[in-house]
Amino acid sequence: MSDEASLGVAPTAAAEGAATPGQQQALLAEMVEDAAVWCAVNGLVVGDRANQRSGTVPGVGLVHAPFSLLPARFPASFWKQACELAPIFNELVDRVSLDGEFLQAALSRTKQVDEFTARLLEIHEKMMTINKKEDIRLGLHRSDYMLDSETNSLLQIELNTISSSFPGLGSLVSELHRTLLNQYGKVLGLDPKRIPQNWAATQFAEALGKAWAEYNNDSAVVLMVVQPEERNIDGRIVAVVYFRAGYAPTDYPSEAEWRARFLMEQSSAVKCPSISYHLVGTKKIQQELAKPNVLERFLDNKEDIAKLRKSFAGLWSLDNEEIVKSAIEKPDLFVLKPQREGGGNNIYGHDLRDTLIKLQKEQGESLAAYILMQRIFPKASLTALVRDGDWFEDLTISELGIYGAYLRNKDKVILNNQSGYLMRTKVSSSNEGGVAAGFAVLDSMLLT
Ligand code: ADP
Ligand code: MG
Ligand code: MG
Repeated sequence: MSDEASLGVAPTAAAEGAATPGQQQALLAEMVEDAAVWCAVNGLVVGDRANQRSGTVPGVGLVHAPFSLLPARFPASFWKQACELAPIFNELVDRVSLDGEFLQAALSRTKQVDEFTARLLEIHEKMMTINKKEDIRLGLHRSDYMLDSETNSLLQIELNTISSSFPGLGSLVSELHRTLLNQYGKVLGLDPKRIPQNWAATQFAEALGKAWAEYNNDSAVVLMVVQPEERNIDGRIVAVVYFRAGYAPTDYPSEAEWRARFLMEQSSAVKCPSISYHLVGTKKIQQELAKPNVLERFLDNKEDIAKLRKSFAGLWSLDNEEIVKSAIEKPDLFVLKPQREGGGNNIYGHDLRDTLIKLQKEQGESLAAYILMQRIFPKASLTALVRDGDWFEDLTISELGIYGAYLRNKDKVILNNQSGYLMRTKVSSSNEGGVAAGFAVLDSMLLT
């Protein structure tokens, strides 16, 4: 069997190196078992919802994270393109974050109808009023892409500037796949060297460490905001605040959380992200940046601008009546997005049509809470997925996330790197997926 042919087919078919269908199934079952053991030994695990004590008693109730048995195929040229974009997006975020007027103006209509965005903007505005300057700026980003099969191009889904998830588990899945291919690669005709190295967890940790070092106070600490209880920030000097929470309205159940966020923003600590970086990552700003001549306001290098623009899918604000009309006529070609993070918030298909019709009737500004995006259609392939110790096959599509770390102190850029990747693979019949929600699994990639 030629290498090309084996890479071009689904995992089960790839197992045809084993002679009979029975042997193929036995091989896959053996791989699943090996993989599950590897997960347990190497910490590729998450809290098990089926276990009541999980999450409250440390070390109790863990289950392997859902994963795909073999890495998703991905063309090397698109991988290279996505890696090259990482430092450019990092720089773009930094530049845009410095233009407070732009952020306020671009989000001014969203603010009227979206309470959460309004609260973030309120903090941002107060910082503008006191002329707060952030000398040390740390960004830990993840730019997500899908390969659009219609145009054969790499298109950006979104850019995350807050709580970019899975650098830890993502790097481990690459390790898992490499280990499996070291053992089974020959019979499958798959070369483990074609899985790119993935140091996302280490690189993000290093970036946090470097930001701490720039703060230059040996007795200061790094504060991780992991729950909406952000009140325990007294007593010790905080050099770096990392927000693993704070991106969703539910992270602010009372005024106390908003006060804490405001307090942190006022402080001299390095915020990852600062309120400005956070706002740059909103869907509305993504759409504004895709408008003609907007990138040119922030970047000088024409080649960089062209590279970014090539990765932009169609993005529209809902004051564009023609697009709203098209979306009502052909809802399957669009995604309707509110200003939210964390998955499960977008609107598709019939719901998209109904929502647009309803919003149009409401008059007023309610349309301004959303943006419309061209729907991207990646090519589906048959994949073996492992969840809860069981495996099954389904048609899947994949989304590639590229991590980027950025650190600067005044004029000195200390870090501006592509920092590993995350592949998420989901059943193609599901709109959103989400690893935690149960549709998507963690994956890595095999370059073709
Ligand atoms: P969030 O910030 O909640 O992650 P996303 O914009 O990433 O929001 O959307 C969530 C999911 O919806 C994505 O992971 C992807 O699976 C799907 N999705 C989003 N935009 C598109 C699009 N333009 N085309 C196809 N699928 C999309
Ligand atoms: Mg997001
Ligand atoms: Mg996303």
